[in-house]
Amino acid sequence: MGLLNHPSILATRCSLLPPAPLPESQSCRESIQSYVRRICAKNQIHVSTFVSEAKSNTAADLANRIQLSNGCTHLISKGGKTSAAWLSALEALTIVQSPWDMTTRDLTSLTGVGRLVLTRARRWCPMCLEQDILYFEPFERLLWTINEVHACHIHRCLLTSRCPRCGKGDLLMLQGKDNPGQCVHCGAWLGGSARLLDEDRDGLSKYLIWVARSFADLLANPVAATTDAGSGFRTTLQKIRDFHFQGVSAHLALSLDRNKSVIATWLSRGSAPSWQAMSTVSYAFHVPLQEMLTGSKDCIPVSFHRPLPLLVTSSHRPRRRPQRTDIPSLLKLFARVHAGELPHIQTLTALSPILNISVREMRRIAKNETQAVAEVLSLRRKRAQEKKDLVRKNALTFEAFRIVQSFYELGRHPSRRAIEKELRLLGYSMRRKEYELIAQIRNEVLKGQGRTAAAYEHRG
Ligand SMILES: [Zn+2]
Ligand SMILES: [Zn+2]
Repeated sequence: MGLLNHPSILATRCSLLPPAPLPESQSCRESIQSYVRRICAKNQIHVSTFVSEAKSNTAADLANRIQLSNGCTHLISKGGKTSAAWLSALEALTIVQSPWDMTTRDLTSLTGVGRLVLTRARRWCPMCLEQDILYFEPFERLLWTINEVHACHIHRCLLTSRCPRCGKGDLLMLQGKDNPGQCVHCGAWLGGSARLLDEDRDGLSKYLIWVARSFADLLANPVAATTDAGSGFRTTLQKIRDFHFQGVSAHLALSLDRNKSVIATWLSRGSAPSWQAMSTVSYAFHVPLQEMLTGSKDCIPVSFHRPLPLLVTSSHRPRRRPQRTDIPSLLKLFARVHAGELPHIQTLTALSPILNISVREMRRIAKNETQAVAEVLSLRRKRAQEKKDLVRKNALTFEAFRIVQSFYELGRHPSRRAIEKELRLLGYSMRRKEYELIAQIRNEVLKGQGRTAAAYEHRG
């Protein structure tokens, strides 16, 4: 065996330098996405490079779960199969300890409760990031990925999802060119000050901070993975009902601003309570989530009722029901679309508010007609995209011509990289399929000047 093929050398060749250590506190656990971002920054590679490296270092059945393009980057830290794939890649490429800590598996593995929803968009506490750079590196907490969490319990402020400089929001959880603590679009620093919540004055602030703190505590001291949290929730609810309302479910329902039937379904195992429902009960009776999930009885004697803020209770009530739409008026609307009216409408969802009818209902009452309209709308989307692409291509061609021309006049070598750099300065981020176009334009300009690209390259 040659020295270069020795297993130990192969192993060291693909291992990446680990990022700086973070605080030990379990409530500020880091998410996988944040860890990947930091490890890429430390090793000066793009996240996309890491991903392609990770794919080739993972078993084939897991490799297809390692990608950034399917819009599911929030699942990376959920604790399911996607997490397993990413963690095995991390283990292959780095030295990580207890990597499952970087996922919400402690919460998703509980039984008897609803699905834990993770946010699709990156969220952060600007004040936490600001503080991080004083002691550590900026990193993003697992806590911020939980949909129910909207506030930072440490700084008592709202989490934000919008870049303070370019204003872009809904950044994906992980993208090809991400950097820790920076906006992926403009590179701005995401730390800074934030809107503080006033707990003493308004109920909603109190609620948001309570929920954030409850989840932070749950991450810090997770309940055992095998816990039947649904049964814990039922036990707690029964005890609350018996202690505060003399066993009358109707009064309990009133205190939570829910229908009696909802409480009855919870108590009879009819449906698993959602995390939002558990958060509201936890707040309304001052019972920490953790004790609720385990069904501990110690917290009941000290529990007390406080009203839920209006914004929280209004989300319990069913939304305005769509009116009954008669088929003729729906068909009339469809006919307008077929006739080319309402040109700004490009999806069925955009069409639905006009008659206050859901897409589902549309399909139910007029299946074939809805399908026909969907096809028309899909054609509209395609045309709009083509138009957009054409505008971009024209602008790009114009700029590329100008750049190559100026390179020629200055005697600079018009390499693809150099041209792309100039284009980037003008605000174009290049797409892979456009490389050929750039090369074509360059060759044309050079040909016009009586030389070929090859000759130019030869000169260096
Ligand atoms: Zn904070
Ligand atoms: Zn930005």
